[in-house]
Amino acid sequence: MYELMREIFPICRSITGNGVRQTLKKIQSILPIEIHEVPSNTKVFDWTIPKEWNIHDAFVKDPKGEKIIDFNNSNLHVVSYSIPIHKKMSLQELKSHIHTLPKIPDVIPYLTSYYNEDWGFCMTHNDFIKLEEGEYEIMIDSTLENGSLTYGEFLKIGEVEDEFLISCYICHPSMCNDNLSGPVLATILGKYLKEIKTKFSYRFLFIPETIGAITWLSKNEKSIHKIKNGLIATCLGDSGIMTYKKTRNGDNEIDRISKYVLENSKQEFNIIDFLPIGSDERQFCSPAFNLPVGSLMRTMHGKFPEYHTSADNLDFVKAENLEDALIKYSGIIFILENNKKYINLNPKCEPQLGKRGLYRQLGSQKNSEEKELAMFWILNQSDGKNSLLDIAIKSKLDFYLIKQVSDELLEHDLLKIV
Ligand SMILES: [Zn+2]
Repeated sequence: MYELMREIFPICRSITGNGVRQTLKKIQSILPIEIHEVPSNTKVFDWTIPKEWNIHDAFVKDPKGEKIIDFNNSNLHVVSYSIPIHKKMSLQELKSHIHTLPKIPDVIPYLTSYYNEDWGFCMTHNDFIKLEEGEYEIMIDSTLENGSLTYGEFLKIGEVEDEFLISCYICHPSMCNDNLSGPVLATILGKYLKEIKTKFSYRFLFIPETIGAITWLSKNEKSIHKIKNGLIATCLGDSGIMTYKKTRNGDNEIDRISKYVLENSKQEFNIIDFLPIGSDERQFCSPAFNLPVGSLMRTMHGKFPEYHTSADNLDFVKAENLEDALIKYSGIIFILENNKKYINLNPKCEPQLGKRGLYRQLGSQKNSEEKELAMFWILNQSDGKNSLLDIAIKSKLDFYLIKQVSDELLEHDLLKIV
């Protein structure tokens, strides 16, 4: 995940353009995503797909002719979707197009102007205050023309049509936690799922945030009922604790499973209620769709000072944090895949476990005690209504143990799947 992040970090992405295509091509070399192009000006619900933006170069030269801003040093220097411009102007005029963060004076802020044709530069406040009076040459070699919006999609078909949606966005330029941590996790998780047999189908979306989700929903409205669970993968590489943001209803299967995985991680975590700000859960959980999509992240957007700045870089994100997040995602999928309901085939009192070799003959090893306890819980609760996760929660026994023991009871014909 970290290696992939390092490779795609330098690419200048936006909500459209070649940066998105290049990023998706790189992802495609690992996970066979399908790349879709939707033309500019296409109506998608209340929105219209904007013109395609591409940028080749940009600079600001000071009165001495020295480049004080160079796009080649950081693609955050240019406000995303800046229209082309090449002219000379006074410092006064230039200043109205320069953005800085006085409170964090050593970072370059990230700004966009997708739906308002404008241009601008971003720089550190420390450099900004050094600017001297005189004539500046500014140049943005960009294009804003009819083209298309590009997104990637991968569907792993499982035994059933019910889908688990994992959605991430690929529209930020060189920033790691918000943004690349989501796509790299989704790519590797997708590659892993592709290679194993699964009950559920898994749909991965690599889309530009907001407009991409709106576009995808508008093109796939007829089949979204298949989405039974979902997660938005964002901000997964910082060193903060895991945060789960609930679905709009807050009581879907994904809410229960995510809570269980975090509670059983023996690490600190945070669970927050749904709120209509954030990432693409805003679209997936809009009232007409109200999909069971939550968001599993580390530190939420805007809650870390590096957010939307040049400090959200390859040093800020750590490979071990990405790995820990991937373990949580895998844990959720493992539970979902195995969260079955059973019926006890010997419900009139307890079955005699000893004669089946399921009950200890001697001794009281801790392991066998826990296993027997799990057997009693499973047999007692398997009335067709309780799932294995319900039993794990009630018994306070580990889901993995409950799953393992239920497999054994199934082999001994003591259970039947619902
Ligand atoms: Zn962002």
